[in-house]
Amino acid sequence: MKKTVLKIYIFTFIVAFFNVILLDRLYNRNINEVDFINIESPMEADKIAEFSITDKSIDEIKDYCMKNNLDFIKFFTSYMICNNYEVDSVSYDYNEEYYKDSDYAKSVESIYRAILSDIEYFPIPNSTNETSRNYWYCNSWKSERTYGGNRKHYGTDIMDSKNERGYFPIISMTDGYVEKIGWLELGGWRVGIRAEHGGYFYYAHLEKYADNLKQGKKIKAGDIIGYMGNSGYGEEGTYGKFDVHLHLGIALTVKDREDEFWINPYWILQYIEDTKVKVDY
Ligand SMILES: [Zn+2]
Repeated sequence: MKKTVLKIYIFTFIVAFFNVILLDRLYNRNINEVDFINIESPMEADKIAEFSITDKSIDEIKDYCMKNNLDFIKFFTSYMICNNYEVDSVSYDYNEEYYKDSDYAKSVESIYRAILSDIEYFPIPNSTNETSRNYWYCNSWKSERTYGGNRKHYGTDIMDSKNERGYFPIISMTDGYVEKIGWLELGGWRVGIRAEHGGYFYYAHLEKYADNLKQGKKIKAGDIIGYMGNSGYGEEGTYGKFDVHLHLGIALTVKDREDEFWINPYWILQYIEDTKVKVDY
């Protein structure tokens, strides 16, 4: 009898032990952190975060790199550094060797690599229904917000032109896994997906989640993760404090820094506007 009890104890202990290890693996995967050690000026970090380059310019740089067999992210990095992080139109004089092989350039490159490597699709899919409605968004990076005290807007809001909760499906822009899910006072029903190269893609104010979405779940780019809504700005289950929209945030985790480093998604969204999956809705 005593032996059986002992066996049960040992068995329970072993199961619990491996559970803890597996869960730990699941929820604390190694996050690819970017190192800011060489980007000491807050002004510079602000400019990088603005991501101020038109979609047309990104396209041109990408084409040029393809034709000339160059590493796109490396070239993009040097181009941004040379133009003080503001590019309206691309100059056609490419003879100059842009990339300076410095630690500074490498730090900046790690930021762009983390953001740009994994993005595949626009977060709103195309509808198979031709009479589907429109959405719109504008560049509202750092515009003023007042709920919960004066603060700045670190994302892009994609608005439903008819303001109807639950109409637009939201898809994941990247492969990755669900790092965070659940209610936030500011973000309402939100999902945070961590992509392979370290980017954190934050989708907020959802009406509801897709079925079976839970922490740790593996996600493929193009998977539906939820539906556009207007949840947030209050206790759990608060809806309707503002118009129906998706708040999209893109952030990086920075080594030795507690807060996330948010990047303006506006031009990135413009750049991927034509890369949509098709969904029945
Ligand atoms: Zn927003």
